[in-house]
Amino acid sequence: MYKDTIAAISTPVGEGGIGIVRLSGPKARAIAGKLFDHKLSDRRLVYGHIIDPESGDVVDEVLTAYMKAPNTYTREDVVEINSHGGAVPLQRVLELALSSGARLANPGEFTLRAFLNGRIDLAQAESVLDVIRAKTEASLRLAVSGLKGRLSGELKQVRSELMDVLAYLTARIDFPEDEVEAQDVESPLEQCRQTLDRLIADADTGIAYRQGVRTAIVGRPNVGKSSLLNLLLREDRAIVTEVPGTTRDTVEEVVNIKGVPFVLIDTAGIVHSKDVVESLGIERSRRAIEMADFVLLVIDRSEQLTHYDEEIIDLLADKTVLTVANKADLPHKAKMDGISRPVVTISALSGDGLHELEDMMVEAVLGGKVISSDAALVTNPRHKVLLKKAYDSVSQALKSAREGMPEDFISIDITATLNALGEITGDTVTEELLETIFSSFCIGK
Ligand code: GDP
Repeated sequence: MYKDTIAAISTPVGEGGIGIVRLSGPKARAIAGKLFDHKLSDRRLVYGHIIDPESGDVVDEVLTAYMKAPNTYTREDVVEINSHGGAVPLQRVLELALSSGARLANPGEFTLRAFLNGRIDLAQAESVLDVIRAKTEASLRLAVSGLKGRLSGELKQVRSELMDVLAYLTARIDFPEDEVEAQDVESPLEQCRQTLDRLIADADTGIAYRQGVRTAIVGRPNVGKSSLLNLLLREDRAIVTEVPGTTRDTVEEVVNIKGVPFVLIDTAGIVHSKDVVESLGIERSRRAIEMADFVLLVIDRSEQLTHYDEEIIDLLADKTVLTVANKADLPHKAKMDGISRPVVTISALSGDGLHELEDMMVEAVLGGKVISSDAALVTNPRHKVLLKKAYDSVSQALKSAREGMPEDFISIDITATLNALGEITGDTVTEELLETIFSSFCIGK
């Protein structure tokens, strides 16, 4: 437990009906008691005023909640002062808390304390941010499931099985063979390998829901990229024009397609500015494609493909691509032989084909995988990297066990697996890693 008491404004800056100053630590109650003109009582919302203890001035009319440790967010004593939600009253209340003995909290420090005091593990702490930043309802469901500890629970199980195997192997190393009863090592390792394999296989889906799929819309000028963007956004954000390539604004918007957040990075003004020479257009397309996880290649099916189309197609080699054959309302002229599959035919002008386009976008990025809220799903790229590491080590351990290698050989790889998994749950974690993770939080979280 920490000795100091931290305080911060926990609601966003700007005007609001209410704003909350939160305190956590052994002196939270005493500090709040110096400022608040009524008696605090555990888990009661008490009406009263914040009074400047020096001048005796009334600072604000508030509701104050005191929550006694350990059943609180941080497992410490917590006080939340609900004041009026303006920058000045909140700042004044915070300053008084600080001058009465609290210290300003670092970014994410409330959640860090929840982790260090053992209320949640590291993966759960990271989910707090995912809940706050959830882009769609499906993303939120996944984040909440992470917060509740679904993934953590599954990993804990795997870790505990590996520890059993490790204990057995250590005993075999330390004691003569006849004193330790033989035990099956291969099945638990195989079991663990399979669990990790399943988690890794679905990780990209989880990551897509959490972060959004970065999507580039590319194609030569005038094929209908801006029209398509508008259709997806259902609002006129980009300027659509009949003059080839006069779209100048760059747009980056999140659209929710069947619960999957697609972050559309428009190459507007990039690939199709009429005064930009073609080679520059190609270069910019290349950059947009590089930035993207997923590409919508737009072609105009009412015209023959040109070498400009082909040059863009050449840039798409390792990408997940959905070809959008636009202008279906006009007669079909383009030869589709060299075009990468899948292809969806639409008219960005009339909106025909939009539903099929949306279905195929989701299909292209998730490959038919739909999330079920009861399965543990990896949503964080950091976790995926570590799971891969754990998978490689456990596969190596399994291989050694099958080949009848000595116990310490197998133990080394099991220890490496445990360490990698421990970095997800926070069981084996460095100060540095904690700093990196919690520095992306805001103050007050
Ligand atoms: P961009 O340069 O690729 O962004 O293309 P725009 O979206 O600006 O569209 C260029 C022109 O094609 C505009 O006149 C649009 O109205 C027109 N256009 C876009 N989509 C369609 C379509 O599906 N059918 C028809 N007939 N015209 C379209």
